[in-house]
Amino acid sequence: MTNSTLINDKEVLDQELDQESKIITPCQVDKSRNSFNLSRARYFGHLLGGIKTALYSRFISKRPRPFTFSHMVTSICNCDCDFCYWKHSQGKDDLSLSAIKRIYKEAKQEGYMNCILWGGEPLMRDDITEICKTAHDNGLYTKVATNGWFLEENYEFAKYTDLMFTSLDALGEKHESTRGNLKGLYERTLKGIEFHKKHSPHMRIYVCCTVSKAHPIEDIIEVAELCKDMDILLYLTVNKSNQCFEKGEDNSKELEYSADELSDIFKKLKEMKQQGYPIRNSYYFMDYLIEKKNYYECHWPRIATVMYSNGDLLRCYDRQPFLNIADKPLGEALRSKEFIEMANQCTDCKLACVGNYALDASGLWKIEWQAIKSIAEIAIT
Ligand code: SF4
Ligand code: SF4
Repeated sequence: MTNSTLINDKEVLDQELDQESKIITPCQVDKSRNSFNLSRARYFGHLLGGIKTALYSRFISKRPRPFTFSHMVTSICNCDCDFCYWKHSQGKDDLSLSAIKRIYKEAKQEGYMNCILWGGEPLMRDDITEICKTAHDNGLYTKVATNGWFLEENYEFAKYTDLMFTSLDALGEKHESTRGNLKGLYERTLKGIEFHKKHSPHMRIYVCCTVSKAHPIEDIIEVAELCKDMDILLYLTVNKSNQCFEKGEDNSKELEYSADELSDIFKKLKEMKQQGYPIRNSYYFMDYLIEKKNYYECHWPRIATVMYSNGDLLRCYDRQPFLNIADKPLGEALRSKEFIEMANQCTDCKLACVGNYALDASGLWKIEWQAIKSIAEIAIT
């Protein structure tokens, strides 16, 4: 699709939605876009499907049956974030659309329930809409994580996307300062969010804010206030992995807050959540940090499969590839000795990372009541 076609389509879409907005009744205007509604049934279907798969995997098949497919669709990015693990990649060998179509079809057959598409910057792929459509058509609850720059240009992905995360670590230039000083990123992100609030009413919109020494707590509080004012959701991802990679290309460790500092930050953020700020991290997650815990038994590789842009499946412990499915069926990889060993080794992992959903998911896997209660609260609100 050419840019001019895209822009014309966007103008037509604007006009149509302006017309629609004129017939919205006053009671609809006041309602939060995040209020519970029946369209969330799709999400519950996937959540229950995931729980069923996990139970089957634990108690019946006794082999790892992950149900979250995490796909780095490209390693190219227009940002240059201080804490990025991935920006040194060139993106020359990103999988083709046809290979992705084959893999997503197999993911459906293997029981995956949801996928997250990330990068690099996923919206830099011209075919991102087709990729999202493929995920959606295969019944996957589809999430996209973006840095926000291309939200208006490459907007059609939203038609097939259930949930979007867009990065925002601070307001204004403070956000841009840690993202390679990409001028205009903040304004473009805000405009893009407003665009999708208007044009993509079905899509849940999250701001993803990285808690790292790059920003003091005051900056994070400002982001939470902005999310509340804009009626969008906030997920805090913590730069804390206990990992220290040896290649000298990863300065994320230096940006990690200490356990004491994280405890103070999350005490404040928990109070804000209790006061009604739209913070979507679970209390289970927040309490772990507040109580300065530094170990939990992780089961993340049994729950999520991470595929790099060239089809490599990655081990989370060292981010090294151990299998490649560019030319190999996903099902064959999942049943291989290498995969089963990798997934089962997670229980020996001492890294206890909290930068993703591993902590919450592992609590659910172990059927811990606090995790179930805390995550169920989020699911139904
Ligand atoms: S936007 Fe994401 S992929 Fe791009 S440089 Fe920043 S952290 Fe890395
Ligand atoms: S703690 Fe879990 S998610 Fe983190 S590296 Fe270890 S097994 Fe992977």
